[in-house]
Amino acid sequence: MRGQATAGRVTNLCMKLAAAALLCLWSAAASAQGLAPNTTYDAAIPTLKAVLGHGHGEAITTPDEVGRYLDALAKAAPDRTRLVQYATSWEGRPLHYLVVGSRERIARLDEIKRGLQVLASGATDADRLIADLPVVVWLLHGVHGNEISSSDAALAEAYHLLAARGSADVDLTLREALVIIDPMQNPDGRQRFVTQNLLGRALEPDPNPQSAEHDEPWPGGRVNHYLFDMNRDYFALSQRETQGRARVMLEWYPQVIVDLHEMGGNSSYYFAPPADPINPLLTEAQRKSLDLFGRANAAEFDKRGFAYFVREVYDAFYPGYGDSWPAFHGAVAMTYEQASARGLAFTRDDGTVLSYKDGVTHHFTSATTTALTAARNRERLLRDFLEYRRSAIALGQKGMREYLIPPGKDASRAERLARLLAAQGIQVRRAEEAFQSGSQQMPAGTFIIPLAQPAGRLARNLLDPDIKMDDAFLKEQDRRRKARLSDQIYDVTAWSLPLMFDVDVVAGDRPAGVKTREVRPDEPASATPAPLPQGTLGFLLPWGSGAAATVTEALRQGIRVQTADETFTHSGRKFAIGTAFVRLAENAEGTAVKLQQIAQRHGAELLPISQTWTEEGISLGSGRTARLKAPRVLMAWDSPASSLSAGWARYTLEQRFGQRVTAMRTSTLQNYDMKDYDVLVLPSGTYNYSEDGLRRLKDWIRNGGTLITLAEASRWAARDRVGLISTDTLWRDGTPEKDAPEGGTQGGGSGGGGAKPDSAKPFDFDKSIQPDRERPENLAGAMLRVTLYPYHWLTAGLDGDIQAIAEGSRVFAPLKLDAGINVGVYAPADRLVAAGLVWKEAQPLLGERAFLMHQPTGRGHVIAFAEDPNYRAYAEATQLLFINAVLLGPGH
Ligand SMILES: [Zn+2]
Repeated sequence: MRGQATAGRVTNLCMKLAAAALLCLWSAAASAQGLAPNTTYDAAIPTLKAVLGHGHGEAITTPDEVGRYLDALAKAAPDRTRLVQYATSWEGRPLHYLVVGSRERIARLDEIKRGLQVLASGATDADRLIADLPVVVWLLHGVHGNEISSSDAALAEAYHLLAARGSADVDLTLREALVIIDPMQNPDGRQRFVTQNLLGRALEPDPNPQSAEHDEPWPGGRVNHYLFDMNRDYFALSQRETQGRARVMLEWYPQVIVDLHEMGGNSSYYFAPPADPINPLLTEAQRKSLDLFGRANAAEFDKRGFAYFVREVYDAFYPGYGDSWPAFHGAVAMTYEQASARGLAFTRDDGTVLSYKDGVTHHFTSATTTALTAARNRERLLRDFLEYRRSAIALGQKGMREYLIPPGKDASRAERLARLLAAQGIQVRRAEEAFQSGSQQMPAGTFIIPLAQPAGRLARNLLDPDIKMDDAFLKEQDRRRKARLSDQIYDVTAWSLPLMFDVDVVAGDRPAGVKTREVRPDEPASATPAPLPQGTLGFLLPWGSGAAATVTEALRQGIRVQTADETFTHSGRKFAIGTAFVRLAENAEGTAVKLQQIAQRHGAELLPISQTWTEEGISLGSGRTARLKAPRVLMAWDSPASSLSAGWARYTLEQRFGQRVTAMRTSTLQNYDMKDYDVLVLPSGTYNYSEDGLRRLKDWIRNGGTLITLAEASRWAARDRVGLISTDTLWRDGTPEKDAPEGGTQGGGSGGGGAKPDSAKPFDFDKSIQPDRERPENLAGAMLRVTLYPYHWLTAGLDGDIQAIAEGSRVFAPLKLDAGINVGVYAPADRLVAAGLVWKEAQPLLGERAFLMHQPTGRGHVIAFAEDPNYRAYAEATQLLFINAVLLGPGH
């Protein structure tokens, strides 16, 4: 593997660069001193230098080397460690955690784990457990692969805890705490960073921040293979790495979690307490502990003379961070941020040079101080944790008692949501019979999420439609936006899973007395295919998420599939637009069983039929059905495409729906003859096609190609840019952007010389300083209601309203009737906002503007999304719209 070929090179480089190996030796000695002054180390524990050839902070340790050093430590101290591989990255690299504890603790590790699980259940008689259990401190490193010092600090932390001799602090830490070190949460991203850094490396480390070794090419090392920011993936659990991490955290239930990051090189160091806003479901005890750790770190940083800041930037509102998701399981969870050298040396704006070793030392210091502080407060932290879990149960016994999710029209989507909740430690049950909840009749198969459970606050966070920010914070943001200052909102302001999945949720105030069984995240889909009724001549698949995945796989296997462009009634049941039909007579032998297996795997409903007569609507042999083909899909890759948008699209295609896609660099793409492809996806971005390239793109569409543009790519495609689709993007005042910004006549805000002075009226200062033309107000990330045009095949599997995540400042005028169809339109202003923060003044501009447009062009299509339907792979509903475009577009 390419990664491994470079593995040993950093070491070699360090030696060669040193001209005489002296320089490396010198810094190894310095680093041992620098980390923890006056510490004596046990020679039986191998140093980093002995195993890898470089000391702490002298080289950027590669992912492969991280693994080798962990192995060496675990082998040297088998009775005080346990090394566990908990996941494998998309690119095949192992993810580990190393448990470090006293001999006594490690000998009883499994018993301790069981004890922690009992504690986490909110056990009533827990005194013995609390007297006995260690406090678990989980140190997470390098979730962003280019935040490099974090992983090297992890290796230093492990070495220090295992090798320090006669240190009262280390002895106390290991007596009272169990320290779990995850040194590298994103090995693929780290390898990407290390490779490009090495490629750009000068004769000796170049501190110029603009030099090639610091300047990462697209997509950068922050993200994983699918270009996901894994620090936003906790409740979506879309990535293998996060899935593994959530699973093992739910085995150990740590009481203290630190996620160690890096920030811009001109900063200093950040640790808790966090900035506002604070999620209202964090408790007072948690906030007090954030303060406790903050003060302990501050005292140590003062002692060492390190600069730091608290409270100013990193908030604790959004629940999908590595430092917030575990907090709703009861941990004290914190983010620490070190200024990044983004290499071995970095010249700051003030002329001083930040070294990689500085970063490693600072992270090492805060991490070991945190573990020590936790050890000193062992009993308090365990009691707080227990109380958090118990009070969550108590909270759920008042007011609303449970959430109910009926299977609804697309049972595959409800089931996916139920499993996702179960995968994050939330108890979910499935009703085995129909039941009554209040005045509502709930069918068998309804999922029940009781709120009286230890993870009740996490359940509320993810299932409530909206989590409110506090008024003082909102007031300050309102002031800032009016002054045209950027807001202090760090991430999206809405994330309700039922809204994003577009499933119905019923709030129940009485626990349902109904026969149920527990939902397990990994429970296999139902067993063997049901025997087919006599005379089965084909199958109907009502469209939905599971059906889309089924049909994608079926088409790839050569099964012939039709899709209904209108509704029909068969055997008394009404079938919606998009329903797929497979006729066995036109398929190979064995298709029935094959299709049954595929459908089961994807949780799709597959109905055998023995005659094709429809009582109402179109016939199954009608011209108003479309023959689907396995689409050959191309997508733009590399700058100027947004790496996140490109990664989300690729993930949605390949992993969510099993659709193959050719990712092609944008520079190659515009000169490429696309005749062998049916679909082109342009992720968010402002493209720079040549005139010739654009002409060829338009010809390809006219000849039957389906172009799908996402977010900023739709802005680029609009009439005022390259004219692939007849929409206009709008200014804040609702006028099209194509109008000259100096227009003057329409804005009415030009307070200067143009207007005739009216001596009778006082000068209107506020009005006079309003800019003439502005982009629409920026959305930090909110959920907007979208009304779908139900007669269009793009909406198959969805009905009426859905919710879409909107962020940024894009507003599109709807298409005129002669240009195309506005398949999705934002709801009118008064019911536009489904959840999250959208300023009142911004709502009228968005109301009834276009979300999803379809413009038939020649024999092809342009399908434009105003926002990214695959945003972080959060929203099943909009992802279904996206796969509909890919799968159904070429058939029409
Ligand atoms: Zn980070």
